[in-house]
Amino acid sequence: MAQTLVKRRRDSSDSDDGLRFVRSRIWSENNRVVIEAGQMHLCVFRDLLCIHSAVLKARVEALPPSDFVQGVDGCPVLCLNDSPRDVEHLLDALIDSRCVTYFNPKDRQPLEKVSALLRLGKNYEIELLKNGAVSCLRSHCKEWLEINAKDDAKSWAGVEDFDSPRTVVEIIKLARQTNVISVLPDMFTQCAATLSTEQIIRGVAQDDGLLSILSPQDQQVCITGRDKLRIAQTKELYAWLDEGKVRSPSCHTARSGDCSWNKARQAAKMYTEFQTYPLLHAGQLPPRPTDLIPSLCSVCRMVTLQSYLQGYGRIREALPSYFNLPSWTDLKA
Ligand SMILES: [Zn+2]
Repeated sequence: MAQTLVKRRRDSSDSDDGLRFVRSRIWSENNRVVIEAGQMHLCVFRDLLCIHSAVLKARVEALPPSDFVQGVDGCPVLCLNDSPRDVEHLLDALIDSRCVTYFNPKDRQPLEKVSALLRLGKNYEIELLKNGAVSCLRSHCKEWLEINAKDDAKSWAGVEDFDSPRTVVEIIKLARQTNVISVLPDMFTQCAATLSTEQIIRGVAQDDGLLSILSPQDQQVCITGRDKLRIAQTKELYAWLDEGKVRSPSCHTARSGDCSWNKARQAAKMYTEFQTYPLLHAGQLPPRPTDLIPSLCSVCRMVTLQSYLQGYGRIREALPSYFNLPSWTDLKA
């Protein structure tokens, strides 16, 4: 990225402020406006901003005519309170016609880019970018997609490095910051299933040594949600282990009692191994009855699987409530 240092020369009062600005690689030559973000200057055609965002259009039109200002490189200066990296992502997306290459749904996207386009797409009311970023995040929300079958998110490849616990923590923080809470049931479920309590409380180290850590409120939501999920999972997914609750009156092994015996033995095993039993991952069914007891007769297979799937449906429906979130219906609104 070729960058040159330029001396800001807006007027005599701030020419002595000692600040030096970096000229971004984004630099147009005609009918231009310079954007000042942090200590970076970016120069673009005015129309680029005006066509895509009514908010930016109003800001640009409110600038003094360039003939009467001593801006940067003869251009008026539009100051934005966003990070330079966020603004570069925004302008790269706008410069790329209809964002088809820069923000292509078929490519895995760096979270930094998705965050920038979500934040700025929201701030400057650029629906294409904001909705694309939300769909990109939702593409990881299997429970959400199960309930909203026609969601556009299915066509997005998602975020790079999603399997890293750090990424999930950062998505939760971004969702809170931008109020995209529809992704939270799945993200909290993922967080609860993959992070230890210590990781939730102390944070997860990033490659650069910094920590990704949830807010204290969300740490509590995640830990208490995991407890609720664990209890619901035992009650709803494995009720079939208790013959008093889920009966198979036509069990083929009624005389020998093989199915009953196997279920009782599996129930005891789950009880003793409860602490290490695999927790529900978002969009990923835990072991089915037939995974746990392959030798069940055909009637018991059908009855237990039905109980298991109905229980999973109830867990899916209640999932937001475990993490103190509104119902799916309200999240959709
Ligand atoms: Zn049976």
